Amino acid sequence: MTDQPTLTLNDDRQIPQLGFGTWNIDPSEAAQAVSTALEAGYWLVDTAAIYKNEEGVGKGIGDWSDIFLQTKIWNESQGYDRTLKAADKCLDRLGREHVDMLLIHWPQPERGLFVDTWKALIELRDQGKAKSIGVSNFREEDLKRIVDETGVVPALNQIELHPSFQQRDMRKVHEEMGIVTQSWSPLGQGDTMNADAIKSLAEETGQSAAAIVIRWHIQHGLSVLPRSTNPDHIRDNFTALDFELTDEQMAKIDELDSADGRIGPEPGKFND
Ligand code: NAP
Repeated sequence: MTDQPTLTLNDDRQIPQLGFGTWNIDPSEAAQAVSTALEAGYWLVDTAAIYKNEEGVGKGIGDWSDIFLQTKIWNESQGYDRTLKAADKCLDRLGREHVDMLLIHWPQPERGLFVDTWKALIELRDQGKAKSIGVSNFREEDLKRIVDETGVVPALNQIELHPSFQQRDMRKVHEEMGIVTQSWSPLGQGDTMNADAIKSLAEETGQSAAAIVIRWHIQHGLSVLPRSTNPDHIRDNFTALDFELTDEQMAKIDELDSADGRIGPEPGKFND
């Protein structure tokens, strides 16, 4: 395994803190982007059925051995039997016998199927098709419900989290429940780097604005998934492992939190 900061999951497995996001990466570009990331040193790769690029991601991984691969069950595949079938299709497209982390992409509360979907993930873990299982975009009440009904605590919750939307309440809930927090859109889809505080920290430290933001996630104990198709950015983002921010510099980024900083849908209302 590569020498990188990791977090311990509640099933005692290790997850790298720094990962590579692949949302919005065209299927034709995914293999190249993933292989550039792996060569740069990334070990964790995040995809999803809905990204339609799992085949390219699988090709980019090829025979690479140091890999922590995540994918997600899309909304229309929720329900026990559908999820079992959907997971097999993910594995086929990825060209692998198992993934390291399988997630429910959104709770979709109005469908009323996330508990059955979670039961299918438990079965998939028991079958060895997913080494660890978790969720994405789950609210506190959704997390409590699946734990109450199955006794199995998700290893991870992947949620929108960036300096403009820091999710302090959910981070506290995760800490209390023993769930790793993983940040999606960690760079605010590119916007975060334009904040004056980030720009001045970049000048002060000589690091890039993106690396500063990624470093902020890492020092907060989060797992973080920056996405890029630009090879220079992919490599630059990995330099976040090479330096440290002081407490004062971290505090300057902490100040950017905003109640209306959310970019994506509100999980309780997203029922497409
Ligand atoms: P992001 O990582 O916050 O930002 C990506 C944007 O930042 C791209 O436009 C990229 O452009 C730019 N960028 C990256 N590195 C840069 C650098 N060093 N310098 C300048 N610009 C840079 O956005 P995201 O894709 O929304 O989120 C990351 C990952 O989280 C996704 O790919 C996906 O895996 C996951 N995600 C999950 C969910 C969910 O519901 N679970 C939702 C959204 C995202 P270039 O390509 O030009 O570098």
